[in-house]
Amino acid sequence: MDVSSNPFAFDPVAAWHAVRARVAAAALAAGRDPHSVALLAVSKTFNAQAVWPVVQAGQAALGENYVQEGVEKIQALRALQANVAWHCIGPIQSNKAKLVAEHFDWVQSIDRLKIAQRLSQGRAATQPPLQVCIQVNVDAGPTKSGVAWAQATALAESVHQLPGLQLRGLMCIPDPQPTAQARRANFARAAELFAQWQQRGWPVDTLSMGMSEDLEDAIACGATMVRVGSAIFGRRAAAPPVR
Ligand SMILES: *Cc1c(COP(=O)(O)O)cnc(C)c1O
Repeated sequence: MDVSSNPFAFDPVAAWHAVRARVAAAALAAGRDPHSVALLAVSKTFNAQAVWPVVQAGQAALGENYVQEGVEKIQALRALQANVAWHCIGPIQSNKAKLVAEHFDWVQSIDRLKIAQRLSQGRAATQPPLQVCIQVNVDAGPTKSGVAWAQATALAESVHQLPGLQLRGLMCIPDPQPTAQARRANFARAAELFAQWQQRGWPVDTLSMGMSEDLEDAIACGATMVRVGSAIFGRRAAAPPVR
């Protein structure tokens, strides 16, 4: 049977086009240039074979949460000469920092100096600096990773000085909220911090916020990058792979 003729089959390329249209519509609704919002496709738990059609369709930036899984996919797609920028967006244990520094292009999940230092040390002089964002816990969720709001600027300042890293901005993952007003209150806090960093003269250009469920609100609040997984690749298995 030809699966492509199955009207019930999930088609990630069609879903990717729909997400791009959502991003553009949200930008226009906010009076912003649609090109001012980058789309990061979050491919965690989906294998290289599942991700490949979306890359072929033109998606050039992929996000991964789990280091080992990400490195395997990076190697698989590099072997196919895919031109993809790989973003690490998950928590990093210090014993994995070198692996991340060697393989990824970006790390958005820096929430403490020790990890930033290990990443900087692990980045080879022959490589361009690792592009990094500080992950900020904007809504003070109790179980959350991310540096506290009050400590974020001090961390960013230290990261800014590490030779193997280039500070690009901040990332946040606020908890889901029932109303647009509550979602936007969290995103606005992130945007305020980002504006403070720009006012210091730091060359930061990346405000990474918004996912499948809340990208419109994030874009309304100034997101320059949204990170979208399930709306592109479909539902993930409940539990992450055990490593
Ligand atoms: C999984 C994940 C996403 C994507 O979430 P969806 O709801 O599937 O769009 C974005 N950012 C981070 C940090 C994630 O872990």
